[in-house]
Amino acid sequence: MSLGANLGNREETLREAVKRLAAEDGVELCAVSPLYETEPWGKTDQPRFLNIAVSLRTTLSPEALLELAQTVENDLGRVRHEHWGARTIDIDIVHIEGVERNTPTLTLPHPYMLERAFVLVPMAEIAPGLVVKGKTIEAWKIIAGNEGVTRVAPSFIW
Ligand code: AMP
Repeated sequence: MSLGANLGNREETLREAVKRLAAEDGVELCAVSPLYETEPWGKTDQPRFLNIAVSLRTTLSPEALLELAQTVENDLGRVRHEHWGARTIDIDIVHIEGVERNTPTLTLPHPYMLERAFVLVPMAEIAPGLVVKGKTIEAWKIIAGNEGVTRVAPSFIW
């Protein structure tokens, strides 16, 4: 999963989101990436984001995992004003091993995430060899480059 925050106390929001995901029945947290600060993508006149990637094992269905992610987003006070605009917290499911989805609510692997350095750079720290759509995350990362993505802490303590 890819988590990003660009409003309020960004680090605290990410920490709370990780805690809430990890606390869910049927969810086991496997790895959390270092903390990155990134330039906003798409709509650039907004604050910088903090981003992390997390990997987890779960017995939840992909749809139930999305519901969990959205509950955490809503509970942490995400206020959505505009597409690609500022948000308290954004949680995306990038990839679930062996799962493909193409429904109105869930697309897996995530359609844009393999193009975005703010997702790939943190993800490559915890799953460089993971193959998604025929390439490793490390390979997708090299294609995307790392412009605008800065590691701000060597680990993320949640
Ligand atoms: P966003 O504003 O980028 O968080 O997009 C939220 C919308 O994307 C929700 O309505 C989800 O149903 C949809 N969505 C589709 N695929 C995914 C995915 N892999 N992870 C998270 N949200 C998804």
